[in-house]
Amino acid sequence: MPPSPQAPPDALRIGGWEPLSLVDWPGQLVAVLFLQGCGWRCRYCHNPDLIPRRSPARIPWEQVEAFLAQREGLLDGVVFSGGEPLLQAGALATAIDGVRARGFRVGLHTGGPHPRLLENLLPRLDWVGLDVKAPWNHYEAVAGRDQGHRTRESLARLIGSGVGYEVRTTWHPSLLSPQDLQAIARQLEVAGVRRWVLQRFQPHGCRDARLCAEPVGSPPLEALAGNKLALEVRG
Ligand code: SF4
Repeated sequence: MPPSPQAPPDALRIGGWEPLSLVDWPGQLVAVLFLQGCGWRCRYCHNPDLIPRRSPARIPWEQVEAFLAQREGLLDGVVFSGGEPLLQAGALATAIDGVRARGFRVGLHTGGPHPRLLENLLPRLDWVGLDVKAPWNHYEAVAGRDQGHRTRESLARLIGSGVGYEVRTTWHPSLLSPQDLQAIARQLEVAGVRRWVLQRFQPHGCRDARLCAEPVGSPPLEALAGNKLALEVRG
């Protein structure tokens, strides 16, 4: 994908927002904007309404700006989430500039499908939550696209940038076996990651009836014994 030309922030297609969150950027009090559009098809997606790229904006940028103007000094930052925010990289860059000009810190949630677009945005970002969905060669089964190599490249550029980050993986026993978890842990260690968050699958919003019907239980942490990552289990 070529670099996105700059676009005005009011071109941003915002599918939803959370005015106040304590969980989307650990340690920060933030507003979260969910951007429309995603090229992947994760079975566990809990925001399927955000997947179509061309849905009309539900929240105009002016409304976001008016909200943020009232929250200056009260919120730590703004997180751009999705969907996949990098699909709107041009408008996203100018929106980030506007948010920073108000004194907010800026975070990004991404699956890392466009390493070059992420690299271009990194100087504007304070923190990135990067989803690593599967072993690099096993992405198609989880994300519906064989694009683990893209996330791998995004992770390398993210680590190289020095921007703060968190690597997260959503776990469901039907999608990631104990061997898959071992493979992810190994690939993260090789990449230079120190800390890894395992998020237990949550059925809320997911439209895959089979996944939702299966008992999830606890991730098989014994499979990860011996790896050097600091592991946090959420959910
Ligand atoms: S990358 Fe995120 S938004 Fe896209 S399908 Fe997967 S879970 Fe849903």
